[in-house]
Amino acid sequence: MDNSDQQGAINGILQLKKGRDKPVIQRHPWVFSGAVAHVIGDPQPGDTILIQNHRQKPLAIGYYNPHSQIVVRICTWDPDQPLSEGFWREKITRAYTGRQLLAFDPETNGYRLIFGETDGIPGLIVDRYANYLVMQCLTLGIDCRKETFVNILKETPLPDGTLPVGILERSDVAVRAKENLPQSDGLLWGKAPAESVTVKENGFSFEVDLIGGHKTGFYLDQRDNRQLLTSPSLTAGKEVLNVFAYTGGFAVTGAAGGATSILNIDTSISALELAEKNVLANFPERVDHDEYLAGDAFQILRDFRDSGRTFDLIVLDPPKFVHGRRDLQRASRGYKDINWLGMRLLKPGGILMTFSCSGLVSIDLFQKIIFGAAVDAGREVQILRHLHQGADHPILVTFPESAYLKGFLCRVW
Ligand code: SAH
Repeated sequence: MDNSDQQGAINGILQLKKGRDKPVIQRHPWVFSGAVAHVIGDPQPGDTILIQNHRQKPLAIGYYNPHSQIVVRICTWDPDQPLSEGFWREKITRAYTGRQLLAFDPETNGYRLIFGETDGIPGLIVDRYANYLVMQCLTLGIDCRKETFVNILKETPLPDGTLPVGILERSDVAVRAKENLPQSDGLLWGKAPAESVTVKENGFSFEVDLIGGHKTGFYLDQRDNRQLLTSPSLTAGKEVLNVFAYTGGFAVTGAAGGATSILNIDTSISALELAEKNVLANFPERVDHDEYLAGDAFQILRDFRDSGRTFDLIVLDPPKFVHGRRDLQRASRGYKDINWLGMRLLKPGGILMTFSCSGLVSIDLFQKIIFGAAVDAGREVQILRHLHQGADHPILVTFPESAYLKGFLCRVW
């Protein structure tokens, strides 16, 4: 049931242990179960709750989930502010205002509109794909306010002044289990999209499968990094290896930059089919020009090493290897292996564009991993540029967890 008035009002008080109020005061939006002294009242999962320090000083308001290790996600540091529909409406308007940068670019109509905690709406992701919105509810507090969000989203003009025609849900993500929530997806409002929706990114068109694609359909966070490959000084006349290609984001911009050939690798055959479609939609003359190879990137790169195959430019954009602290060591080895292999396949002076989208891998750790790979590969590696997620995925300084995508543009001698 969704009743925003009821959920907007405060239904309980959470008192923090002595000495555990600092992160809240410093505006980190998560309260972990270990910081809780006790809960007063009978707040139900998803309810609005007031956070107090051990001396009963009110500090913030958020929503509650006793089944999660993150028991409260803070939505406001004004203790008199109910989480009413008007409150959410203001947050959404502010998030849209922040995307004006992209809204004025008529060549891009796929971008993130709401990025959870960073936009003051913890647990809610909303991506725009042309006239459609795709929503991801990552937490119980958002899940039980879904109707409220849909009502606001359907009538809030997008940053370019148009209105959405349909809102889909893609809450088919593993993190929901941590919130005791089942996976859920489908049409929430309006018109259902066709099998795929054509989205423009920096003037290139991409078919995006909003229903079956990864995440909400496309890796929007890589927009700026993909665009780098359009530069002929980087790409023209080069043999490119695009590892973890998905639907060809880097293949399209590599073609734009004048790459002689692009070899795309991914485990997903359907993603590669769409990659080829996307390249040809933008560059019909490249028919039978590039390669699309389905299989495990680690194995294929090893085979290339054994057969002495080399490239001028390699993109390594692997999926998230780290899902929890326990994975960190194993995942670091994975990053090192794939980068070591990539370096081995590069001609002297070649370009390596390498990424990690694991939030738990800091940029410092990632640089150490690249260092280890370079030493083992016996190659000299220069970092030319630091890369990160685009401006529609802003990083909130009080929430460093929001900086998750990092990469390096390197020259490998
Ligand atoms: N560069 C892409 C996004 C890559 S996402 C873009 O710009 O859109 C990561 C991709 O890696 C996914 O498409 C996934 O199918 C693929 N993948 C995961 N494990 C893989 C493996 N072991 N070998 C090859 N591809 C893999």
